Amino acid sequence: MKIAIVGAGIAGIATAFELMEAGNEVSVFEQHRAAGEEASFAPSGLMWPCAINPWGATAFQQVLQLGLARPAFSELQIQGGVLSSPRRWARRQQAVAKKLRDSEVLPALQSLELLAMQRMQHLQEMLDINGQFSQGLLLPLRKEPSAAALYELTRRLSAAHIDYQRCNEAETRAIEPGLATEIQIAGALYLPEAWSGNGRLFSQGLLQALQTHGLQLHTQHAISGIQSTGSGVRLQWASGSQDFDAVVLCAGTHTNQLLRPHHVQLPSAPIHSYSASIQISEESLAPRRAVIDLENNMILTRQGSRLRISGGAELGYPDSPERSDDARHALISVLLEWFPGCIQPSQSILQMWRGARLTVPDGLPVVGASGIPGIWLNTAHGGFGWGLSMGCAHHVRQLMTGQSTSTDPAALDLQRLR
Ligand SMILES: Cc1cc2nc3c(=O)[nH]c(=O)nc-3n(C[C@H](O)[C@H](O)[C@H](O)COP(=O)(O)OP(=O)(O)OC[C@H]3O[C@@H](n4cnc5c(N)ncnc54)[C@H](O)[C@@H]3O)c2cc1C
Repeated sequence: MKIAIVGAGIAGIATAFELMEAGNEVSVFEQHRAAGEEASFAPSGLMWPCAINPWGATAFQQVLQLGLARPAFSELQIQGGVLSSPRRWARRQQAVAKKLRDSEVLPALQSLELLAMQRMQHLQEMLDINGQFSQGLLLPLRKEPSAAALYELTRRLSAAHIDYQRCNEAETRAIEPGLATEIQIAGALYLPEAWSGNGRLFSQGLLQALQTHGLQLHTQHAISGIQSTGSGVRLQWASGSQDFDAVVLCAGTHTNQLLRPHHVQLPSAPIHSYSASIQISEESLAPRRAVIDLENNMILTRQGSRLRISGGAELGYPDSPERSDDARHALISVLLEWFPGCIQPSQSILQMWRGARLTVPDGLPVVGASGIPGIWLNTAHGGFGWGLSMGCAHHVRQLMTGQSTSTDPAALDLQRLR
């Protein structure tokens, strides 16, 4: 088949790989001059067992009842009156979260994660791409959670078949020797099977490899319309059009714009978060693997010789220098609190970034048929788009080629949200 993909973020590039491996002729259309310029620009790069809950760190946070140390920054902040669309969306998300708990969402996320890891391994064996990967995730605990809270967390981890270790203070410090000696640590949870990596570097490497195998990449092509032609679809952009047998929309926050003329919409919202990347100045005191500060809801990862710290969640706020300054301050303070010796406090941040995570109320991605002939979806990955990228891409490949899927299609398709 001749297949078009709209969007060269992590999802679009992973989908191109899967569809090319299945023997299709693939073209990717990207509106920017380069790939990975939107949500895939500077994520934390954590590939962790999000099956614990679609809202990730928040779930650990809530189960352990730790309380947020910086609530104004860490909780979802919403701008708008009670009737505004961000508030309506947040209410719907809360209602769905309460109803679902982990029971219905867990199996879908678990099988997607497993698939994602297997496909990533397969891809690495085939193409050997540098993704600056590191293994292991530490969740240090400043105070001992209650026995009931710990029981609930370990119950959830075991139910999700997630391998974990409970560490005392000495074991925690042995895993991360750079941890501040001033911080009181009651212990930690260690997830040895979680990974982190540089999603942008990896997807650029993958894109280059695919181009040598015949992938057609059309940058600076903003797709303005998609029509069903009966036998396939026609993609239109400012200076032309082209026919394909099918198209996969991996268009992130622009997905609804492309679906609107077909009267199809995702009940999605862009939640903005921040990341700061900074050069390590003292390697022996730097984190060796990913660390989550549960009380501040921030993620710290290695990106080669840099560190990246991310956090915050905003809905309905425009980008502003003041909010970005506050975010920078909050992120760097937390980094210096945990690993004070690894960067020069006076050192300027290499990169401060605000990115949007397109999220639907149940927190799962939307992958499958759109209901419009010839148009498929692989979008709305929330905070897990990098970690699940290979799993979602393989799932859409299985659906498009009529194979049986490892994840229940009903758990991920658009129909579930109607
Ligand atoms: C601060 C932060 C931290 C994060 N941390 C993690 C993490 O630790 N682990 C994890 O798994 N995920 C994380 N995420 C989420 C992850 O980054 C996203 O889920 C993922 O990048 C989404 O990829 P995507 O390809 O779907 O979207 P995007 O990267 O946004 O790609 C969509 C592409 O489509 C293009 N496009 C859209 N419309 C058109 C059009 N009409 N014509 C042509 N091109 C078009 C856009 O230009 C864009 O390049 C994080 C996100 C943020 C913001």
